[in-house]
Amino acid sequence: MARLVLKFGGTSVATVERIRNVARHVEREVKAGHQVAVVVSAMSGTTNQLVTWVKEASEFYDPREYDAVVASGEQVTSGLLAIVLHSIGIKARSWQGWQIPLNTDDSHGAASIADFNGERLIAGMESGEVAVIAGFQGVASNERIATLGRGGSDTSAVAIAAAVKADRCDIYTDVDGVYTTDPRVVTKAQRIERIAYEEMLEMASLGAKVLQVRSVEMAMVHRVPVYVRSSFDAPDASNWNGTLVCDEEEIMESQVVTGIAFSKDEAKITLVQVADKPGVAAKVFGPLADASINVDMIVQNVSSDGKTTDMTFTVPAAEFARAMDVLTKAKGEIGYGELRGDKDVVKVSCIGVGMRTHAGVAVKMFRALAERGINIQAITTSEIKISILIEAAYTELAVRALHTLYDLDKA
Ligand code: ASP
Ligand code: MG
Repeated sequence: MARLVLKFGGTSVATVERIRNVARHVEREVKAGHQVAVVVSAMSGTTNQLVTWVKEASEFYDPREYDAVVASGEQVTSGLLAIVLHSIGIKARSWQGWQIPLNTDDSHGAASIADFNGERLIAGMESGEVAVIAGFQGVASNERIATLGRGGSDTSAVAIAAAVKADRCDIYTDVDGVYTTDPRVVTKAQRIERIAYEEMLEMASLGAKVLQVRSVEMAMVHRVPVYVRSSFDAPDASNWNGTLVCDEEEIMESQVVTGIAFSKDEAKITLVQVADKPGVAAKVFGPLADASINVDMIVQNVSSDGKTTDMTFTVPAAEFARAMDVLTKAKGEIGYGELRGDKDVVKVSCIGVGMRTHAGVAVKMFRALAERGINIQAITTSEIKISILIEAAYTELAVRALHTLYDLDKA
């Protein structure tokens, strides 16, 4: 017997009919003798609608009331799933975040989960009752409802799995696992059998949308094995597949590069002719940090005359206009010749824990791109990742080439 947390996303609970299908997955696990907690998202589209209504009500809304509104979608699906489970003879009850209680900090709209006690849930599960939990929500220290940020049900599920000491957290979604890259771009993309927490964290941060980034962080910290699989597999199928996100040690044969992610949510900014002297970087990035704008890739050229240099960096595309504005206002303070911006860029990243032990991965990548005439505008690396910034028009060409280069193509 195992203790399992099953999470179903918005498309999996989009209609009552689909909720019935979810109930059959739950039934299978219960009949196998497992203790089960289920975490549900809102029906797909619901949260967007709720957010739209809030913004329509007032541009200057109270974030606590935003949370009261947007958390409601999950309340509906948790109740519906409990009802459907009853109808097939399974003991179940719904749980709202405040009833568990799943405690969060007070950052309404993007709250973080604080340590919380899973005892009430465990007691229910031990009595043979399926816990059907509304994802995405918890209760802040001010006793108000708080939500965890868009896509937050993944994080709810992993946090609950950690709190109830579950053997595994199964994330049911609309794809059958994590792929080597986006299959819509590279038809030869393959499902990854096992992926290390660190790799998944990079994949999620760099554009793969299967799991919310924070859920992967949470899984990594608490060592919760996460299994990503499709809710559209027949509930009684015996031959389904998925991707296990787990410890590096549990992966036998690992590739040098496990996956390729890309993100168009980047914009490039160049400051031409900034002084080449101590303190300049602080002057450039200080005002951006004050405005809570995250800077990612940074390239500073060597100055040819010893006086001035050019500095290039990227910011999230959504922050581009604000960043340009901040830098324009700080022109006197920073001192630069010209400010240039470019939103027509994409960040392509190769990810794999195998890079720690293999040399020459980057060179191979740069050569492959050069052969295709693709110019690299910026580079960043970490122990398990190489990211490059290129012109957006070359996205597909680059991703396909790298996918082949690192032997990821499906046979
Ligand atoms: N319903 C919420 C959202 O759409 C949370 C989730 O589905 O994970 O962001
Ligand atoms: Mg999601």
